[in-house]
Amino acid sequence: MKILALVSLLALPALAQERRDPRVEKIVSRIEAARMQATVAKLVGFGTRLTISDANDPARGIGAARKWLAQEFAAAAARPGARLKTFEDRFVAPVGRRIPAPVEIVNLGVVLPGTDPARARQAIVMTGHYDSMPSDVLDPKADAPGANDDGSGTSMALELANAFAAESPAIALYFVAVAGEEQGLVGSQHLAERLKQEGVEVLAMVSVDIAGNSEGQDGVKDSTTARLFSEGTPEMESEAQKKLRLAIGNENDSPSREWARYLQRVGELYSSGLKLRVMLRRDRIARGSDHMSFLHEGFPALRMSEARENYHRQHQTPRTEGGVLYGDDLAHFDAPYAARLCRALAGAVGALGFAPAPPQEVALASSNNPDGKLRWTLPADARLHEVVLYRRPADAVQWEKMVALGKVSEVTMPSVNVDDWFFAVASADEAGNQSLPQPPAVAPPPKAPLPKSPPPKSPPPKAPLPGPQAPAPR
Ligand SMILES: [Zn+2]
Repeated sequence: MKILALVSLLALPALAQERRDPRVEKIVSRIEAARMQATVAKLVGFGTRLTISDANDPARGIGAARKWLAQEFAAAAARPGARLKTFEDRFVAPVGRRIPAPVEIVNLGVVLPGTDPARARQAIVMTGHYDSMPSDVLDPKADAPGANDDGSGTSMALELANAFAAESPAIALYFVAVAGEEQGLVGSQHLAERLKQEGVEVLAMVSVDIAGNSEGQDGVKDSTTARLFSEGTPEMESEAQKKLRLAIGNENDSPSREWARYLQRVGELYSSGLKLRVMLRRDRIARGSDHMSFLHEGFPALRMSEARENYHRQHQTPRTEGGVLYGDDLAHFDAPYAARLCRALAGAVGALGFAPAPPQEVALASSNNPDGKLRWTLPADARLHEVVLYRRPADAVQWEKMVALGKVSEVTMPSVNVDDWFFAVASADEAGNQSLPQPPAVAPPPKAPLPKSPPPKSPPPKAPLPGPQAPAPR
C-alpha cells in the first residue's frame, strides 16, 4: 500500500495531542504497590537467591524461589479470561568465572501472544532478575536478601503479567524473571540468543534492575524520578548502519534510544508524578544489566533504574560495620515508588503493544531547494489511523514537537533546512497509541552541485516553522 500526499507543515493547524487510551489506563490501574511489597517480602524470605545456592532446599535458596515464582506466573495465566502462556527457558550453564561448577539456570515467566498474524514474530520483552548475591558472589550460604536488586524488577514482571493477563495486544509481550544475572548476565544471554534463534523479532526490551530504593547513599530522597539507560551507537552496528550514521549523524537516534524516549514520553503520560530521565549511556559507568544481552543480539533494549542508588545496599552481605548498615533489605524497598515505575512500564508496553506497525523505509530527500522533505512507506495495518512527525533541532537531545500528519507517506516542510533538524515518523491508531518513532533509515544521495546560472529569481520563502511559539507537548 502506498499513499502519496504532499503535506505542508504550515497548513497543519493542530499539534498531535497526547492522549491516553482508556484500555491502557485500565491496565495501568491494576498495578498495586501492596502486592509488589508482598512479592518482594516473599522473595527476601528465601534467604539467598544466589544462582549457585542450594536448588533443592524447599525453603531457602534459588530453587525454592524459582518454584514459588513458577506458581505465581502459573496463577496469573490461570486468571479468568487470561490469554497468557507460561514460559520457561531452562539450561545448564557451564563452568565460568563466577560459576564454579555447571549449574542449572531457569528463566521463567509468561508470554502474552500477539493478535496480529502479520506481526506474529514481533515482541516486547520485559525482565527483572530474581537471583541475588551477597558480598562474595561465590558464597552459596551467605544471606543475600536482594529486595531491591532485583526483587524490585522481579515484582514488576509478576505485576505486569497479572495486569496484562486478559489483554489482546497486536504483538507478543514477554514478562520474564531471569536468573544468573549476578554470575555475568548468563540467564538473559541464553534468553536473548534463544529468542533470536526462534526468529522472534524483539522490537523493545527493558531490563528493570535496582528500581525500588528511593534514598541515595547521600541521604537524599527521590521517589518521583527514575533513569532510562540506552546505548547510542549500537554495539552490533552493521556496515550499512555505520555508513548511515556517518552520513546523517544519528548516534542519538539508535533504536534503543528511540525506545528510551518512547518509554519516557508514554511512561510519564500514564504514571502521573513520575519523571523519567533519558540517560545518554548504555548503563551506569562500567556496570551492566540484562538489557546488554539483548543489545548483543541486535535488539533495541534499555535499563530502567532508580534515580538515587545506595551502594551499601547492593551486593552486600547484611551486616553492620563501622556503624554502617549493609545489605539489600526489605526495609529500604519503597513499594509505592516501584509501583510508580511499574505504571510507566505498563503504559508504554501497553501503548506499544496496541500500536500499529511503524512506517517503513523512512528517507530524507536531499535537495538543493530550501524545503525539507521526508518520505516513507505506510504499513499495511488496518489499525493505522495517522502518521505522527517528530522533530527536534540538531543541537537538541529530546524530541520537541509532534505533528499529526494524517494518513500520508510524504511530508514537505517549507523553508526547513534538514541539516538543522532531526526527524522521525511514527504510526498511530485511533486511540493515540503510537509505534516507535522511525528516524530516516535510508541515506539521502549526495547533494548535486548548484547550477551556476541562472540565479534564482526570488529568494526562498521565509515562512516560519509551524508552531515553535507553542509549548511542545511531550
Ligand atoms: Zn541487578
